[in-house]
Amino acid sequence: MTPLTAVSVDSGSQHRPSTPRGPKAGLPVVAMIGGGQLARMTHQAAIELGQCLRVLSGGPDEPAAKVCADVVIGSHTDLDALRAVAAGASALTFDHEHVPTEHLEVLVAEGVNVQPPPQALIYAQDKLAMRRKLAELGAPVPAFAEITWAGDVVRFGDEHNWQIVIKAVRGGYDGRGVWMPADSDEAEAIVTEQLDKGVALMVEQKVSMRRELSAMVARSPFGQGATWPVVETVQRDGQCAVVIAPAPELSDSLAMEAEQMALRISAELGVVGSMAVELFETTDGRLVVNELAMRPHNSGHWTQDGARTSQFEQHLRAVLDYPLGDPSPTAPVTVMANVLGAESAPEMSMDERLHHLFARMPDVKVHLYDKGERPARKIGHVNVVGGAQGSIADEAYVAAVRERAERAAHWLSHGEWTDGWDVHGE
Ligand code: ADP
Repeated sequence: MTPLTAVSVDSGSQHRPSTPRGPKAGLPVVAMIGGGQLARMTHQAAIELGQCLRVLSGGPDEPAAKVCADVVIGSHTDLDALRAVAAGASALTFDHEHVPTEHLEVLVAEGVNVQPPPQALIYAQDKLAMRRKLAELGAPVPAFAEITWAGDVVRFGDEHNWQIVIKAVRGGYDGRGVWMPADSDEAEAIVTEQLDKGVALMVEQKVSMRRELSAMVARSPFGQGATWPVVETVQRDGQCAVVIAPAPELSDSLAMEAEQMALRISAELGVVGSMAVELFETTDGRLVVNELAMRPHNSGHWTQDGARTSQFEQHLRAVLDYPLGDPSPTAPVTVMANVLGAESAPEMSMDERLHHLFARMPDVKVHLYDKGERPARKIGHVNVVGGAQGSIADEAYVAAVRERAERAAHWLSHGEWTDGWDVHGE
């Protein structure tokens, strides 16, 4: 095996190893911007396809950088680092949406196969551009407006009975960059503070929702599309905690509408790869689009164990313009629960927690990202695939699968069993 070496490129980014780059068998190299858990799990899928994912990682300790053999260390805002990771790759893709599109335009002009292309990616980066575009396409979105000064939010708030949500136009994630002010004073204070910091803002109507859903699809440049079943996403403190696949009690007509809408959005915007359309199901039974993610997404992690083709493999197939894989679920229900860091990390080591979990729940599939434990940080997830004899219409069956997934995830993050089981007692 070639020893790992670090070489400098002009920008100061580092690439290891210098040779060989790419699999021997003439198989393609996909380069992914970002070294987080999504890149780490895409690498897992790449291995199965005979590939080795190349990643641009901010540092050597990021989740993907620790497991990929082909890593460029550098910043996603540094054009030379982007060029270094793209060199010779069949496709360049993303584990996050924060790469400046002007850099991507340069890469495209230089012949790099950027997927999804910058003219699509912009709608995953900029919430105001996304709202405008989806409204133009006739997709259901909440009423919205740009905020250029505090007066804009006061007018919008008065018009919408102060049922409003203020959002940073760019850069928010996991609920950061989202504010729900109760009244005009609070809204004005938020807007003034954020505008002073240079944060571009928008405001939209607060949707009266029954729950949150996600419609995941994949699209290839050839124009093939594939949809996984629409899932329910359960959020806690603005962050995804649990995903139930498929969404229970979703009417066939709403499920069909969501899938078709996601396919249409992906085609109209020219998206390539896996894409999540985050949706609200309103209390009066309508769908409203929240936002788009043009990459593997937390709402699709269940597909690793619960579908014939995972979102990670599908993303690779799509960006390489391979025919897409069968997205069918393999069980009546699969529940994913995120392992979110506890307020204070348990004394018991993760290794020991795993021992206990595996002893007690052998069917739980664990996916850990090798990230340090910090409060509410996503450090992994678990999938529980329901038994073949169940049905999504059976509330008790779905609840039992969900309880197992949440119990396992809570155990891994907190070292405590939610049902009071005594580890050393029985
Ligand atoms: P992020 O990009 O940080 O994930 P989102 O725009 O998805 O931010 O908002 C985070 C959460 O805030 C959503 O999951 C939802 O629970 C809530 N939210 C966002 N927009 C609205 C809205 N218009 N009406 C009601 N709740 C909303």
